[in-house]
Amino acid sequence: MNYLVLGNWKSNGDQKALTAFLAEFSPVNRALIDGYRTGIAVPYHLIQAGDFGSAWVGAQNVSAFPPGAYTGEITGGMLSELGTQFGLVGHSERRHLMGETVEQTRAKLENLQQSGIYPILCVGETLDERNQGRLHEVLLAQLAALDIFTKDSSFAVAYEPVWAIGTGVAATPADVADAHRFLRETLAERGFGHVPLMYGGSVKPANAAELAAIDDVHGFLVGGASLKAGSFGEIDRAF
Ligand code: PGA
Repeated sequence: MNYLVLGNWKSNGDQKALTAFLAEFSPVNRALIDGYRTGIAVPYHLIQAGDFGSAWVGAQNVSAFPPGAYTGEITGGMLSELGTQFGLVGHSERRHLMGETVEQTRAKLENLQQSGIYPILCVGETLDERNQGRLHEVLLAQLAALDIFTKDSSFAVAYEPVWAIGTGVAATPADVADAHRFLRETLAERGFGHVPLMYGGSVKPANAAELAAIDDVHGFLVGGASLKAGSFGEIDRAF
């Protein structure tokens, strides 16, 4: 099983911040012995702006279109040319603020895969959806985008309850365990039993060890706490 601890800088950071981060950050480099990976999804303009060493560098988005007359879109091929190693798709901010649809997430996953970039599909429910008892229904609808993959495909899924993102309040270990068990079973039924399942939503040094100890949690997607090398390093060491 792969373990992934990935940061998501969102629309934060500049050259100065990245240089300072990389000078201080030393990822746990267990990649060669057990498939463990650390990485950071930086804004596009920082993908080539530093030496990430053994850490992966990732993109937070990719075009849903093929190359062509799509002004402003960054294709998978372009990201690959920049040396991008992983890409986020379907983050809740893209679904809820930019109106990204399941069809678009499917196209984006496919564009990353065809460009040799490791795709990570983010899924998660809003608080209203959870309170209405629709958690499984929402996750199943979002997982439909995975139908472009075969059982040999390499990708990860990140469970990120929308109500836990950026709020400082992570889901409880019991909620995470429940959702991850459901995701694990659903993925296994589709031949994707090998896929790492990450958790995201207010992961910080204080809760990382407890969350990392949960069955079926194979990594974290970290927003706010990934902006500082010290806190991201502590989270990185939780697995
Ligand atoms: P957060 O963000 O860690 O700041 O809650 C997580 C994410 O958006 O991936």
